[in-house]
Amino acid sequence: MSDCIFCRIVAGEAPSSVVFRDERVTAFLDIRPVTPGHLLVVPNDHVGFMQDLPDATADRVGAVARRLARALRSTEAIRADGINFFAAEGEAAGQEVGHAHLHVIPRFAGDGFKVGAVAWRQPAPTREQLDASAERIRAAVSTGPDTG
Ligand code: AMP
Ligand code: ZN
Repeated sequence: MSDCIFCRIVAGEAPSSVVFRDERVTAFLDIRPVTPGHLLVVPNDHVGFMQDLPDATADRVGAVARRLARALRSTEAIRADGINFFAAEGEAAGQEVGHAHLHVIPRFAGDGFKVGAVAWRQPAPTREQLDASAERIRAAVSTGPDTG
């Protein structure tokens, strides 16, 4: 038996409350929801990070997450006022479960949920600094692997 909890959920070996499943992805309720209806979309095959998924599976994660978001906003389901999509990739980013997953978090006016970060650098970077970052990232993008 796998020691990955999300692999066990996908295999039906651990309890879960599934809302959607197809040949590539499974979506289920988070056991410690930030808000009611908080969902996780996971690839059925074990991969640590979203960045390592084949494009077809990553695309499916995104498509299913958007479909779930529409459902969560509908009056039949949770009637969310808004949605946050969130993924933590790596320990430094706060990833706790080492199986890639995308959070789909319903938001409600005044729900009090805040991402716990001092988000913006002060002072803001100059355009020169932004351009220098962009140049390094562009170089890495153009030479990096394409998973498609
Ligand atoms: P993170 O890796 O930080 O993106 O968070 C992992 C998420 O998985 C947390 O929100 C947990 O509450 C959730 N989680 C952990 N175990 C389970 C489980 N057995 N069923 C559903 N959700 C889980
Ligand atoms: Zn796994």
